Amino acid sequence: MNILLINPWVCDFGLYDLWMKPFGLLRVAALLKMRGYNLSYIDFLDRHHPKIKKSIRNDDFGCGKFYKKQIPKPEPIKDVARPYFIYGLPEELITEKIKNTPSPDFILMTSGMTYWYPGLEYTAKFLKKKFPNVPIVLGGIYATLLSEHAKSLEGIDYVVSGADLPAVCRQLSSIFGQNISPHTKSFSVGVYPEYGLLSDTSSLVIETSKGCPFNCSYCGSQLFNKHFVQRGPKEVVEEIEFYLKNYGVKDIAFYDDALLVNADKHIIPILDGVLEIPYTKNSGAGINFHTPNGLHVRFIDKKLARKLKEANFRTITLSFETVDPARQKNTGGKVTTEEFKEAVENLKAAGFANKEISAYLMVGMPHQKEDEAREGIEFLHRLKIHITLVTYSLVPNTSDEKMLKQEGLIDDGLDPLWQNDTIFPLIEGNFSLSSIKKLRDYAGFLNRKI
Ligand code: SF4
Repeated sequence: MNILLINPWVCDFGLYDLWMKPFGLLRVAALLKMRGYNLSYIDFLDRHHPKIKKSIRNDDFGCGKFYKKQIPKPEPIKDVARPYFIYGLPEELITEKIKNTPSPDFILMTSGMTYWYPGLEYTAKFLKKKFPNVPIVLGGIYATLLSEHAKSLEGIDYVVSGADLPAVCRQLSSIFGQNISPHTKSFSVGVYPEYGLLSDTSSLVIETSKGCPFNCSYCGSQLFNKHFVQRGPKEVVEEIEFYLKNYGVKDIAFYDDALLVNADKHIIPILDGVLEIPYTKNSGAGINFHTPNGLHVRFIDKKLARKLKEANFRTITLSFETVDPARQKNTGGKVTTEEFKEAVENLKAAGFANKEISAYLMVGMPHQKEDEAREGIEFLHRLKIHITLVTYSLVPNTSDEKMLKQEGLIDDGLDPLWQNDTIFPLIEGNFSLSSIKKLRDYAGFLNRKI
């Protein structure tokens, strides 16, 4: 069968490519390839298309902006005073790509944030015009968190849910009417995503574990992976070596939720193994490593900090979230302010420059006030590190959502568009678009002094 894989358009107030790859979709692609399916892939978000490449900004380490066009806001958020965009390639470039695509038997499309669903509908409707009789199967994060909502989208014929590859395969087998479950042992230890389908492989992502042993009130990690499982260090090193040899990768971002847990048995042997990989002619001066998901700060002791430096971690992003001790404890207790200070000291002692260390600080958490966010910004600045403000977005089925429903602040009728980080903090009334902008400007002003 011919299968067309789709990374869809995104509709949002803002979007930036911080190593965004359709990781799950490309793992499914790898399995389908093993089973002999003919694969085509269209990346509606492709930043490397030759016709738009020069018109968008590319930043360091494979990150950058997406091509975008302003569109009208959907009805539930029409009064929000911010422009709204569709991100990704213009229709005519996608049409050109489709001309060279074999007619598919099924289209598999991935999904990301819950509030991006308008982009899925735009993509599905566009594809239905080109392939009216081809079923579209939707999987991914939104399809898992809000599967009933996803079933109601125009153009979507089937929804598969879950992050567990065997479960996804079982659902796809029943849709295809053919068994696609893998029969190799390698499946249990990880299937490399089919990165050969991407237009650019200089930056890739890797997952060395699934899930997280913590259970923070705002996080969806345990909704996708009930148990925390780490891969063997040797397998991970082999995968990195494969990417060096086959793709000449320069930048690798770890997608793990809990990369540093059990460091002595996990990340340290992985990095020791990476340091022993002989550089090939494709690999240039070595790999830059990145941690966009935020690191568990309490595990960064002196030894680990030195290893991260030695292995060439170029962007270290620490999960701090809030300076308020009560909120730190009540939301999951993953870090205290004292532990955070110590980790920053260890990283600096290991040789990381101030601007290489960044911390996530949340703005707009439930019941949070502006003063707390400002205090957090000033605390991080006193440590002379980069502040990355993250506006709070609501993940369905988390403890936070249950609490906010019990308190009557939200109800079941809340459109997923309101889970968007740009606007969810406005619901409670403690923040406004302008107060958030002031905090962003303040953090930006302090960051420029670092
Ligand atoms: S520690 Fe991080 S990944 Fe783990 S549950 Fe908390 S927020 Fe999620």
